[in-house]
Amino acid sequence: MNDNVMFDSHAHYDDKAFDEDRTEILSSLPSMGVCGVINCASDLSSAEKSIAMAEAYPFVYAAAGVHPHEAEAEGEFDRDRLARLLSHPKTVALGEIGLDYHYNFSPKEKQLLYFEEQLRLSCELSLPVIVHDREAHQDTMTLLQKYRPKGVVHCYSGSVEMAKELIKMGLYLGLGGAVTFKNAKTPLEVAKEIPLEFLLLETDAPYMTPVPFRGKRCHSGLIKYTAEKIAEVRNVPVETVYETIKENTYQLFNISRE
Ligand SMILES: [Zn+2]
Repeated sequence: MNDNVMFDSHAHYDDKAFDEDRTEILSSLPSMGVCGVINCASDLSSAEKSIAMAEAYPFVYAAAGVHPHEAEAEGEFDRDRLARLLSHPKTVALGEIGLDYHYNFSPKEKQLLYFEEQLRLSCELSLPVIVHDREAHQDTMTLLQKYRPKGVVHCYSGSVEMAKELIKMGLYLGLGGAVTFKNAKTPLEVAKEIPLEFLLLETDAPYMTPVPFRGKRCHSGLIKYTAEKIAEVRNVPVETVYETIKENTYQLFNISRE
């Protein structure tokens, strides 16, 4: 049994930002209090790398899927290859998937096609989804209502009202470094208003580095600053935040507590 309490439900250690010292960083995470990391894929070859890391480190789990940014470059949706990656015993989710109308790196139609195909697959396989929604709240909501998957909306950036709709559907909300930012009005309201039972902690490492390390590369150990901020606005001990969220994460992703 692992006494560490920090579960990072969303990171990208296959990112090139970790090419120089990936092994050192990953090996050092348990000594910082990290008990688990879900490495989220950006495309199918990234999913293969996530699985390789999950095989090498007991506390690392993989999510396999195609991010909206990569949908165009990925070409045709390869359902069979994705299903194979999802059948690995350490693949705990389909992700990250979703819509990004801020950057539109892939045409909207392609993003929608990929999102919908992957939602369909998650329902067939009963696997939770890790959803990316940037400036695409309406379409994201419509498709989540249509398929009703289990899962999490990561780096949640919508309103408190939408958050309440999502948790009514049994979905979780991922909160990361954004809650520590000076202009973080909405994420903080969500951190305060939404029951802890529906929140997950995440870093999105190497991105979204919390204050006071903004501008530096993020890693799962820095999740501490996000957890402390959530504890502060809810007026509860940080241990409560860690323990409840660790339990939420185990439950959603069906991870054994051993
Ligand atoms: Zn991500």
